[in-house]
Amino acid sequence: MKVNYLIVGAGLTGLTFANLLAQNENNKILIIEKRHHIGGNAYDSYNANHILIHNYGPHIFHTNNQKIWDYLSQFTEWYDYQHRVLSFVDGQFIPMPITLETINQLYNTNLSQFEMVDFIESQKERVAPIKSSEDVALNNAGRDIYEKFFMNYTTKQWGVPPSELDPAVISRIPFRYNRDTRYFTDRYQGIPKAGYSKMCEQMIDRPNIKVMLNTDYKEVNDAIVYDKMIYTGPIDYYYDNQFGKLKYRSVRFEMEDHDCESFQNAAVVNYPNDYDYTRITEYKKITGQQSRKTTIMKEFPCDGDDPFYPFPTKEWQELYLLYKEKADAEKNVIFAGRLAEYRYYNMDVVVDQAMRFFEKLSVD
Ligand code: FAD
Ligand code: UDP
Repeated sequence: MKVNYLIVGAGLTGLTFANLLAQNENNKILIIEKRHHIGGNAYDSYNANHILIHNYGPHIFHTNNQKIWDYLSQFTEWYDYQHRVLSFVDGQFIPMPITLETINQLYNTNLSQFEMVDFIESQKERVAPIKSSEDVALNNAGRDIYEKFFMNYTTKQWGVPPSELDPAVISRIPFRYNRDTRYFTDRYQGIPKAGYSKMCEQMIDRPNIKVMLNTDYKEVNDAIVYDKMIYTGPIDYYYDNQFGKLKYRSVRFEMEDHDCESFQNAAVVNYPNDYDYTRITEYKKITGQQSRKTTIMKEFPCDGDDPFYPFPTKEWQELYLLYKEKADAEKNVIFAGRLAEYRYYNMDVVVDQAMRFFEKLSVD
């Protein structure tokens, strides 16, 4: 079989490449995906109760980049959605991230924004230089907030304490002195109206794109002739783990159906200090779907086989750099996406990266 582009992985990275490359009708594109579906970790599907769930954990689309928003809006309409999260701390459900509302509820106070500034200043532990995620939280909010909201959640999520993790991990969570309790404040936010899987189908609905599911690319690689490969799987796997296997954090998901309209008061409730799971997602509250029943998902982080999160420590970054050096020298392969670049990327970022790679390809 001969194609112009062989794309390994049908996640948002691979699908964006496929869609852009297919605009040239002369390009023949083959996507190989080892799972039984396209969409990568953004895949969603209806369960037995006809509730639309995100099979690999809650996915909220948010970006400040209008170009990305407009690009994806060709393939979907959006359900307007602003994500809000509660954290179960000291027996109360408290807004997360940390805002004025969080502080007032946690300490049963009625501080103004100005008073919050003074209060947080009195709590902060100055750490310089910032070397870990623990330093970030202590520096932003002090020990009490760190221990109640971040320390145990992060330890559950990653299997090691925040003191061992890159500052970037906890820096993902904003810290605000106002009453805005939204999880994200990006200009564009939403959930694809008919779901991520439908949006993904639209992206590759072109005659010059073919998809092969349930296939590890190594099973068929030798039988396919291609000009260029776009590789979006784990970078260490591409090189047969020759420098050693990279560490990824995985998650086990447990679904529960409940015979009630509403299970909890927010789409996501975090449990930093209780239970073995980190959070519970109630999908109807994200998608806006109406039903007399509801489905929830509990997330149990683990060291499983499914590589979800590149591991954010120096040791694993250094190992990744050995692979990257080899990858950079490849003439016919582009390594892109969360697994191939070993980076904690959000969906908008992988789409953006794929668009940039594509522009570069068009110039070369
Ligand atoms: P993936 O989606 O992982 O796709 C890679 C594909 O390659 C997979 O389908 C895989 O099966 C396939 N593959 C791998 N190896 C092979 C092989 N050998 N042969 C063939 N195929 C192969 N982002 C947000 O913006 N908002 C969120 O709310 C959000 N929530 C998240 C929650 C969780 C629990 C997780 C894990 C991620 C979340 N993300 C979120 C991040 C988002 O999932 C990623 O940014 C996005 O999926 C990355 O797309 P990708 O194509 O790079 O990788
Ligand atoms: N985090 C935390 N407490 C929380 C929520 C998040 O300590 O209540 C930490 C945790 O280490 C997590 C990181 O902040 O990995 C980033 O959180 P985010 O919600 O962005 O994680 P995602 O689920 O999107 O990977």
